Amino acid sequence: MDDVEVVVVGAGQAGLSSAYHLRRTGWEPGRDFVVLDRSPHPGGAWQFRWPTLTYGRVHGMHSLPGMELTGADPARPSAEVIGEYFDAYERAFGLRVLRPVHVRAVREAGDGRLRVESDAGVWTTRALINATGTWDRPFVPRVPGQETFAGRQVHTARYPGPDAFADERVVVVGGGTSAVQHLLEISRTAAATAWVTRREPLFTEAPFDEDRGRAAVALVEERVRDGLPPRSVVSVTGLPMTEEVRAARESGVLRRLPMFDRIVPAGVEWDDGRAVAADSIVWATGFRPVVGHLAPLRLREAGGGIRMAGTRVARDPRIHLVGYGPSASTVGANRAGRAAVRQVRALLGRDRAGGPGSGPLLGGATAREPAAR
Ligand SMILES: Cc1cc2nc3c(=O)[nH]c(=O)nc-3n(C[C@H](O)[C@H](O)[C@H](O)COP(=O)(O)OP(=O)(O)OC[C@H]3O[C@@H](n4cnc5c(N)ncnc54)[C@H](O)[C@@H]3O)c2cc1C
Repeated sequence: MDDVEVVVVGAGQAGLSSAYHLRRTGWEPGRDFVVLDRSPHPGGAWQFRWPTLTYGRVHGMHSLPGMELTGADPARPSAEVIGEYFDAYERAFGLRVLRPVHVRAVREAGDGRLRVESDAGVWTTRALINATGTWDRPFVPRVPGQETFAGRQVHTARYPGPDAFADERVVVVGGGTSAVQHLLEISRTAAATAWVTRREPLFTEAPFDEDRGRAAVALVEERVRDGLPPRSVVSVTGLPMTEEVRAARESGVLRRLPMFDRIVPAGVEWDDGRAVAADSIVWATGFRPVVGHLAPLRLREAGGGIRMAGTRVARDPRIHLVGYGPSASTVGANRAGRAAVRQVRALLGRDRAGGPGSGPLLGGATAREPAAR
């Protein structure tokens, strides 16, 4: 069993941003802090995204702090581009991510420390930065008759790309960007598509500028401050109206139907008598935060969420959730990593001038020495 100052769980954008700022604090990776990641390769959840989600199709990927992602080919899969970038980043800053390491449970160690139990061993720590994202917890709503469906049901997390649906009748469920992207590409080869959403989708012409971003984040922030489960930031920003989307709306591909009332072996049905035959149902219905391993700490409130004060869990100052709720975007994850480390430093008494927090960062050839903030 190893004892460290900080354990970071997850090495996606949020975990790597945290590790970068911990390193910059003067803490030594592997000795003072560890980063544990259950994924097989660098890239966080990006490594699992479908091949047709090319780098040019992701909307607003922010570079990690201290090293820009430049010159990437927009036609290459984002899984490859971002996987390679994260790999280079981890090496440039010597972050020594341990993988694959699956954290199963975090509990009280009994002496004010936390005990982090994984399939590769146990660590005790004074603080925990949880950066486990949402990818491992796809959400599918319960619908009567779901288990009777004779065709295939697949969630965005296992979306195989459009070729798998050639000549099929496909129902895509969900009102977010993933649903729209699935529809646009599936409709090119499928026999027929139908789009089903719970709420009327909101398309917006307005550019996604900083003000709109800030307003969207504020809405999600309010929820987690009240101890409610977070909504996704994208769910409150609306869907961007691109040329491709405009054309798809005109051709009818993005004509939306309300949520169906039941699933039957041959498709989906509504109480008003409507029915759509389907060979496949694609659930683009989102994800939930991966926090099950924190259950022994009993952080949940009556509202079903974890009450947050910034990145800190309100009930327990040792625990920070980054990439959670309002910081579940690449830019939010960057900022959350920095904010969490600043508070962890204060908690652990590392904020004294000239103290161990002032050491230089050892960057690689491609890494930019970060300016003090
Ligand atoms: C389809 C899709 C497209 C998106 N596109 C964009 C976009 O274009 N721009 C944008 O800003 N945001 C986008 N997002 C939001 C995106 O999720 C965030 O921007 C960001 O990449 C998430 O980073 P993260 O570090 O929080 O999580 P992740 O990238 O999910 O990383 C979490 C890591 O933690 C690991 N982990 C999980 N549980 C454990 C455990 N128990 N033990 C150890 N390790 C664990 C995982 O294996 C993973 O490597 C998109 C989301 C989705 C679903």
